[in-house]
Amino acid sequence: MSTALPSYDEAAAQVAAYAGQLGRVRPSVERVELGRAPGRVLARAMCADRDQPPFARSSRDGFACRAVEASAHVPLPVAGITRAGDAPAEGLPPGSAWEIMTGAPVPPGADAVAMLEHVEAANGQVKLAAKRTIAVGENIVAQGAHARKGDELLPTGTAITAAQVALAAACGSAALEVFIRPRVAILTTGDEIVPIKSLPAPGQIRNSNGPMLAAMVVAAGGEPWILPTATDNARALDTALAQAADADLLLITGGVSAGKFDLVEPALARAGARFEFTGVRIQPGKPLVFGEMPRHRNPGNKTNDWAGTRPSAGARTLPFFGLPGNPVSSAVTFLLFAAPVLAALSGSVETGPRFALARLAPKTDKHSKTDLTRFLPARCTFGAAGELPEVAVVPWQGSGDLAAMANSNCFLVVPAEPQHLEPGATARILLY
Ligand code: AMP
Ligand code: MG
Repeated sequence: MSTALPSYDEAAAQVAAYAGQLGRVRPSVERVELGRAPGRVLARAMCADRDQPPFARSSRDGFACRAVEASAHVPLPVAGITRAGDAPAEGLPPGSAWEIMTGAPVPPGADAVAMLEHVEAANGQVKLAAKRTIAVGENIVAQGAHARKGDELLPTGTAITAAQVALAAACGSAALEVFIRPRVAILTTGDEIVPIKSLPAPGQIRNSNGPMLAAMVVAAGGEPWILPTATDNARALDTALAQAADADLLLITGGVSAGKFDLVEPALARAGARFEFTGVRIQPGKPLVFGEMPRHRNPGNKTNDWAGTRPSAGARTLPFFGLPGNPVSSAVTFLLFAAPVLAALSGSVETGPRFALARLAPKTDKHSKTDLTRFLPARCTFGAAGELPEVAVVPWQGSGDLAAMANSNCFLVVPAEPQHLEPGATARILLY
């Protein structure tokens, strides 16, 4: 199977095209309270319910005035005061100033606000300080300057974080329509894998991939569904695949290498899989398998409310990824390939992966050794303004080194040959 494996770029393009097709299917919609909206995806464009700002607003504490009058530097009587929250005053009488607070409506007739710090006030009069000038529009945010009533502020498919929550609140939306989260089946495989709470016997290890992928699925907007670990046995795998067949996305870990007990690929084939690729020229993660298999309702899964509420309830195919079992391999291949498919299933317009540029730290020197694109656990330090972040590789002992990965916050991308990354060079990083 190792002949003519796709490069990273080729495999990524294949996944992006697949995700693009999935993205055309509109997932089902539910309504959630604003407090539960972060991490979800907008199912309906957000529109301004009124002008933003809703009235001409002072952006400073000071005195509303006519710029031409204030520019004469003569004392102007203070005709009134408007605090934030007050209704707009009726108007600014000619030849006067009006005391005003930040966030308060500017009285009609005023065309500028002189900052408190820029005026001399005495005996109920204010005068623009001698060395200060003032222009029309200064310190006033015009009504509708940010948005007009009815304007589309955010398109459908926007991922919701704190900023979108703030905007929704400003528009009076206490709840939002969001897409249903795709249900992601996580099937770990391996005779040696035991659950966290079991005491591992000699030769056994705890299942770290299940919880790790569940966390990654949640972060990527999916709903994890952890299946019991399957043993390296054809029948166990067939049963597990049948059980998983009504998920929206299936992640399998382990059993995709070339070993005698790597039985996942044949099991997928028996389940009717069509493979997009069975290996990618990357390290770690080379044995990655991607494809789709028939999706069907499974009455045995009581928790699965298939009837019309799942995002792709009508879809007849189930995309799957067979991730290599080593934890770092599973993490890298999830971020690079599974996360974009999950994003598409969740209705998000942003599909990953998130690459950025960073400067290689002193003493960090990476040669590409092979025709594989490498992703090395690394730590990125976000530097001063105007500086690129600096990235240093975390010492690691191969793709089973969970401790090294847990001390990283990104992966350094080392391109395939013939590249040499020297200290100080600009390099790509994969953020997570
Ligand atoms: P495999 O891809 O099945 O050849 O497994 C590669 C390595 O990853 C082996 O050392 C496995 O023990 C380890 N591994 C596989 N599955 C898991 C898992 N769920 N949690 C932690 N390590 C795993
Ligand atoms: Mg195995």
